[in-house]
Amino acid sequence: MPRKPLLEFTDKGIYCAKGKFYIDPWKPVDDAVITHAHADHAYVGHKHYLAHHLSREVLYYRLGEINLQTVEYGETVMKNGVEVTLFPAGHVIGSAQIRVVSQGEIWVVSGDYKTEDDGVCAPFEPVACHHFISECTFGMPVYQWKPQTQLFADMNNWWQHNLENNQATVVVGYSLGKAQRIIQNLDLSIGKIYTHGVIENTNEALRRNGVILNPTTRITVDSNKDEVRKGIIIAPPSAVGSPWMRKFQPYSFGYCSGWMAIRGAKRRRAADRGFVLSDHADWNGLISAIDATGCESVYLTHGYTASFTRYLSEIGFDAHEVHTLYGGEEEEVAPSQPSLEGRGLDEQLNKVSPPGGDLEGAIL
Ligand SMILES: [Zn+2]
Ligand SMILES: [Zn+2]
Repeated sequence: MPRKPLLEFTDKGIYCAKGKFYIDPWKPVDDAVITHAHADHAYVGHKHYLAHHLSREVLYYRLGEINLQTVEYGETVMKNGVEVTLFPAGHVIGSAQIRVVSQGEIWVVSGDYKTEDDGVCAPFEPVACHHFISECTFGMPVYQWKPQTQLFADMNNWWQHNLENNQATVVVGYSLGKAQRIIQNLDLSIGKIYTHGVIENTNEALRRNGVILNPTTRITVDSNKDEVRKGIIIAPPSAVGSPWMRKFQPYSFGYCSGWMAIRGAKRRRAADRGFVLSDHADWNGLISAIDATGCESVYLTHGYTASFTRYLSEIGFDAHEVHTLYGGEEEEVAPSQPSLEGRGLDEQLNKVSPPGGDLEGAIL
């Protein structure tokens, strides 16, 4: 009888029966190892949590008083004879890949990751393994990211231009990850950074954790509107179209998301500018990351799992699609169903090359 795999996919999450723990479970369990603090990976209700120490304050802020043990990258914790070690995932501050080892069998759970070093969180580190469990949020060839230096040069120019035209500047990105990347890459010689409360709460949690961020000012009812309009306003997706945002009119509104790579996405978000900024790996990043593990098998948890699994199989990987509840956080979900199923990836590769081609019909 074949040996039971070290990790298995259950209706509560990824489970290690031997070590008696789950990784990013979505139902309450006794022992949870958490890749990062985004809502679709870190649920409330577990008896014990293990995460990277830079996730500590954001987890407390989001989940309340939980029983949390934190570790550094590379530090091994034994769970019932099974080794558990965290490695940088490069996704957001405190994000980790989880390596699980028992009797020479090595599994790595990526959580969410990106391969470009964003200068804000610890950069992604490929970890050798036999079995790699990967996301593929942007597992389509149309998703190719520009180096972030270029993107932030565009953003700073746009801010300067707005200032010269008496327009306020509002930039939208989710509160853990995108917001800190933006804050650390703005040109502060242009003006000051103002934040929506949701963004500032996360910044404060990170600062309590010892993370050094550029100065930001929380927007309150007492804020001087004229001063705020001269700076740059960072807001979460939930603020789009709200009375809170309309107070700063006239403004130019920029949306930061990997989905902005698709024509029409900017219009659907009613944004003036779309910045293709993501905390997930792009198409090439996914393939290079999977390849770098040297894995025998790869399991795809969320994103374009069906077509990406087919593609990986075609190029010689032992690839499997698995069903999880990951991908529920704001920026991970396509504006509408990311369903390209039923269309061969070859067809898509032909149709969408070069990047920037029109996938709109397929995405909608
Ligand atoms: Zn995430
Ligand atoms: Zn996620």
